[in-house]
Amino acid sequence: MFSRLYLHIPWCLSKCGYCAFSSRPVEHEKLEQTCELLQQEMQLAAAAFPDNQPLRSLYFGGGTPSLLNPAQIDRLIATSRTLFGHANGIEISLEANPGTVSLPSLTGYHQAGVTRLSLGAQSFNDRMLQTLGRRHTADETRSAFQLAQQAGFSSIGLDLICGLPQQTETDWQSDLEEALALLPDHFSVYGLSIEEGTTFSTRYPDGSAELPDDDQSATMLETADTVLTAAGYEHYEIANFARPGCRSQHNCGYWQRDGYLGIGPGAHSFLQQGNGLRWGNQSAYESWADAILHNRLAAEDQQQLSREEALSETIFLGLRMADGINLDRFAEQFGERMEQRFATEIAQLQQAGLLTCTAEKIALTRQGMLLSNQVFVRFI
Ligand code: SF4
Repeated sequence: MFSRLYLHIPWCLSKCGYCAFSSRPVEHEKLEQTCELLQQEMQLAAAAFPDNQPLRSLYFGGGTPSLLNPAQIDRLIATSRTLFGHANGIEISLEANPGTVSLPSLTGYHQAGVTRLSLGAQSFNDRMLQTLGRRHTADETRSAFQLAQQAGFSSIGLDLICGLPQQTETDWQSDLEEALALLPDHFSVYGLSIEEGTTFSTRYPDGSAELPDDDQSATMLETADTVLTAAGYEHYEIANFARPGCRSQHNCGYWQRDGYLGIGPGAHSFLQQGNGLRWGNQSAYESWADAILHNRLAAEDQQQLSREEALSETIFLGLRMADGINLDRFAEQFGERMEQRFATEIAQLQQAGLLTCTAEKIALTRQGMLLSNQVFVRFI
């Protein structure tokens, strides 16, 4: 069972140095083919998993979905509506990179039914953007934001990264101020992590003096929390802040373990089947495309979760959200009470100031949000 759909657009203008996502430099002649294959994969998936509920959210992620033109986005939305149905008030999000959008393209996305735009700003410091290998400038982010407003978007979010090479706390504060000046509805804030196989992993080996150390990076995330919550944003998930009523419904679905179908190379799916069924699509464009062209789904690494795996997953996904874990719902689902099974761990984490526990729920404290990994390991 699923009620959410993720469409992965695997192309970007170029590969950023820190990026470990399933994406590669665009071959423009393949954009139309990608769009057709995504439609075809949706058809195969609709036949293979016929018992979905009308979609409550649809998310265009990547890669850079804003490399598709409005007519292509419109077709993908229409196909998803025909095959899966759309619930009233469906949230349709699109990730866009500044520098790839214009007033006509943004207007087209809005008219096609996109309700939420997520702009990959990352930083408002051109030197940092260059280091990251981003193709846009801070001015282009400001301009993209204003164009999105003119195009009719009322829900616009910004993605930011901290802990960048040679970034100081002052640089980061200035990034936050510049971002706040645009009055977005939503922020996703990540600390840079150096992933294996990226250009950054060779340029900045372990312990590189150019990277802020763990304490400095933690301070930057703490600053984000202080500055954004003071400005009226709700810190509703470890890496996400929203104005009241502006949470990403699609991403909340991931943390609540709603079923979702992932379409496109490298996309992941989760069905509420038994304790949960997870799989990923082949991530290389060619093998994904080859499977779809031969009328086969490109799924691999299918994993039927055990009860214990589902239980751990429910805890570490649920704790990511400020709402925490509803204890009665947990007991209903697993036939045992979380606060009894993990009484020792919960007591120790409460004492350390990382967890709060009431009769209804268990949640991370502010400090727990910043040190979440220390909490999660206790429940695995
Ligand atoms: S734009 Fe995003 S997805 Fe594309 S290469 Fe850069 S970080 Fe990766």
